[in-house]
Amino acid sequence: MGTYRKFTDEEFLALYYLGIGDLKIAKKLNVAQNAVWNRRTKLGLIANNYRTCGKGNLTKEELLKRYKDGNKIKADRRDWKLENNIVFKKEYWEKCSKWQKENPKKVKLSAIKWNKKNPNYYFKHRRNLDKKCLKCNDVIDNRSTLCKNCYTSSHKNEQT
Ligand SMILES: [Zn+2]
Repeated sequence: MGTYRKFTDEEFLALYYLGIGDLKIAKKLNVAQNAVWNRRTKLGLIANNYRTCGKGNLTKEELLKRYKDGNKIKADRRDWKLENNIVFKKEYWEKCSKWQKENPKKVKLSAIKWNKKNPNYYFKHRRNLDKKCLKCNDVIDNRSTLCKNCYTSSHKNEQT
């Protein structure tokens, strides 16, 4: 088991193209074999060593799919922790807001990208979801407490 250390793609690739296996790469980089596996999978690079189970090595497509699935599992775990672990939630949001403060341009760009990919998000999730007017039970914008009509009439009442 190697220690936790960050390494760049270039460091990894220099060793990968020597044709050595994950374990050897991990030893040379002084990191866990798992970290090397992760990076190689992310880049879709086929293993230099043969799999010990006797089956063929994973192809580029298989590797990239694994990486994507792995990230989905990680994201699901994170979401669960955010809901169930108060300390984790606090630290997570602190980390996020710190990163956002330090990278305002990236934040803006990713927001633009995200909105392009999910044009209906605002409509479906920010508005008209299941929030109802306190008085008449009409579905309303979730930033309000009353529908327009009730708001106007309650305002009138206040004034008279
Ligand atoms: Zn109403």
